[in-house]
Amino acid sequence: ARLANQIAAGEVVERPASVVKELVENSIDAGATKIHIDIERGGHKLIRIRDNGKGIAKDELTLALSRHATSKLKSLDDLECISSLGFRGEALASISSVSRLTLSSKPAIQETAWQAFAEGRDMAVQVQPTAHPDGTTIEVKDLFFNTPARRKFLRTEKTEFSHIDELLKRIALSRFDIALTLTHNKKVVRQYRARESTHGVKRVAQVAGKEFEQFAAFIESGTDGLKLYGWVLPIGNTNSIQYSYVNGRMMRDKLVLHAIRQAFEEAAGEQALPGFVVYVEIDPRQVDVNVHPAKHEVRFHQARLVHDFIVQAIKQVVLPADL
Ligand code: ADP
Ligand code: MG
Repeated sequence: ARLANQIAAGEVVERPASVVKELVENSIDAGATKIHIDIERGGHKLIRIRDNGKGIAKDELTLALSRHATSKLKSLDDLECISSLGFRGEALASISSVSRLTLSSKPAIQETAWQAFAEGRDMAVQVQPTAHPDGTTIEVKDLFFNTPARRKFLRTEKTEFSHIDELLKRIALSRFDIALTLTHNKKVVRQYRARESTHGVKRVAQVAGKEFEQFAAFIESGTDGLKLYGWVLPIGNTNSIQYSYVNGRMMRDKLVLHAIRQAFEEAAGEQALPGFVVYVEIDPRQVDVNVHPAKHEVRFHQARLVHDFIVQAIKQVVLPADL
């Protein structure tokens, strides 16, 4: 079973940033409003995620580390309308199979906190009491210590950390209401304060740069069932922030990106994308999210309709900067 986990780990765990993604998504699913991410040596040495979410009960600690043990699917119907970010019950099992993982947690109703440890192929053997406030901490040490082939693919500390930083920006723009702190080698690198969702532009400015606050056009289009909102910089700008979200998930969906690109081309004949943060909200029954293991892509049931809607919505606000 642990071998299967290690194979699965190849899909979910590519590098430290993918570990951070899975763990932070778990914290978000657990209702956390504060998430702390500590990284040492680009994540080679340590990745630690602390949250104030609902916690994991003592009896479920070892279960959480086993494959396909997810608390997030109650019935098959749920597959159709998944609102949580993780739902395949693979991440913790996969990560623990290629690292030394400590899971500490305390649900508010439990008096003591408990801790489980798993190392490489050995499942968590024992659960022991520990000190921990309400919420969960997951510590991942020595990533890929037992899979040298994969460890070889890790880049420098700096590169791996920049992937984590980039990921955190995407996450920060997916949930304005969650406070996020990122440290590297014990120094605070990012601190995103929680914002009211109506003050999204503040977070956008903090993450994506003042340019967005000053120049970006705000778009809002559509109605419940299919809606788009977000910020688009005028043509002529270049900005590396080119983020899109579908139902709150960060995406690099081909259809969405194609539609955005087409909107700029049709409106201004421009090849270069100027930077955008775009949210698509669609009836969850109209979309499959289980397409790609890393969950960057979705499948829209009415692909053409969604594509054309996005093109039209964005075209409305795209104007060359010199007009
Ligand atoms: P999935 O997210 O697909 O359910 P994971 O392997 O990522 O699977 O996590 C397994 C289970 O562990 C989750 O379903 C959840 O019940 C529990 N869990 C993981 N991380 C947290 C957390 N930070 N807070 C509360 N529960 C968690
Ligand atoms: Mg998960």
